[in-house]
Amino acid sequence: MYRGTFAIVDAEAITFNIRQFKRLLRPGARLLVAVKANGYGHGALTAARAALAGGADALGVASLEEALALREAGIKAPMLVFGPVHPGNAQAAAAHGVSMTLTDDPRWMDGLTFDPPLRVHLKVDTGMTRLGFADAPSLLAAARYLAARGDVRVEGVFTHLACADAPNPAHADAQIRRFHEALGALQAEGLRPPVAHAANSAGTLRNPAWHFDMVRIGISAYGLPPSPDFPVPIPLRPALHLYSFITRVRWITPGETVGYGATFTATRPTRVATVPVGYADGYPRLLSNRARAWAAGKDARVIGRVCMDQLMLDVTDIPEATVGSPVTLYGRRAPLSWTARALWQQPPAGQEGWLQSSWRAEAADAPLLSVDELAQHAETISYEILCALAARVPRIVIG
Ligand SMILES: *Cc1c(COP(=O)(O)O)cnc(C)c1O
Repeated sequence: MYRGTFAIVDAEAITFNIRQFKRLLRPGARLLVAVKANGYGHGALTAARAALAGGADALGVASLEEALALREAGIKAPMLVFGPVHPGNAQAAAAHGVSMTLTDDPRWMDGLTFDPPLRVHLKVDTGMTRLGFADAPSLLAAARYLAARGDVRVEGVFTHLACADAPNPAHADAQIRRFHEALGALQAEGLRPPVAHAANSAGTLRNPAWHFDMVRIGISAYGLPPSPDFPVPIPLRPALHLYSFITRVRWITPGETVGYGATFTATRPTRVATVPVGYADGYPRLLSNRARAWAAGKDARVIGRVCMDQLMLDVTDIPEATVGSPVTLYGRRAPLSWTARALWQQPPAGQEGWLQSSWRAEAADAPLLSVDELAQHAETISYEILCALAARVPRIVIG
């Protein structure tokens, strides 16, 4: 690592969180963990291994590409692609034992045969209005068609909740009611697939009656609440932490400005620290002049525009923040033993081990600068901050 900006991925926290969920689940309900979008930014393989170590039964991804990358890395667990199955991906999915989502009329399968059989889950649109069968006749027609084929295994049927985290449960309740109706219609013809599932993290945390035969958790597997004020009944540990080191400090006088567009003007003698992290790393530009970070462990405002590769902090009131001081962008507060000098003194091969052991010893239980706080300043949700963490940021895995 040469730049000094890196993420700690606490894989042990993911495993811990999965174990908490296992205890919460309705008896018999399975646990699928969403590792799409590079495992919500944590690294798909890291997330998959950590989730399986905690007892996850299956993994969820957005595309067959994501599934095949995990298969190639040796992950043999059941995998469901949330995106639709179509003539362009069905054969490859069957060949690699990846389950796909059937969202509409399957008669394009006429003339195709799958060996080994194609595994599918039927998607029912109960109110998200995104994907899936929107009425019982189309759902039943598809189920009958698939039942008449010998080369398609209908493993599951599912829906997705649009408002599982909303204080008012009316929308989710209505979706669950429609899902029950769809299951009843399938059942009446002896076509109910073995695994019905509906709940994301919020639905799982909220109501055991929504667990059905399996739940699909994403954000809270990574230790975050589904939304900022959501009551979470189990202990969760956030897994992703973003750090850097100050590369430069300069005093400016009142009237001088900071950054592109000169959007910050000093009103007092101001000490400005430069940090090598920017929007190309996944630190949103909307945080310009809004967010805080911790410099040498203390609150520092982001001043001026966030650049592609750098940002500036006001460290006027933090005299101990100097070149080489640690900066916490989000997550557990960086250990004060972390100075750039101490890091660069490690031989390159030893840096990772040094960061891992000092993080474990000094940061694992330190105060938290939450991703939700940044997300609110950036007018988005924690999910987007997590999965925006760029490929160029080295990830140091704990666990
Ligand atoms: C991403 C995803 C989930 C997980 O949602 P969280 O809110 O992160 O728990 C569940 N189901 C589907 C279909 C998804 O796409």
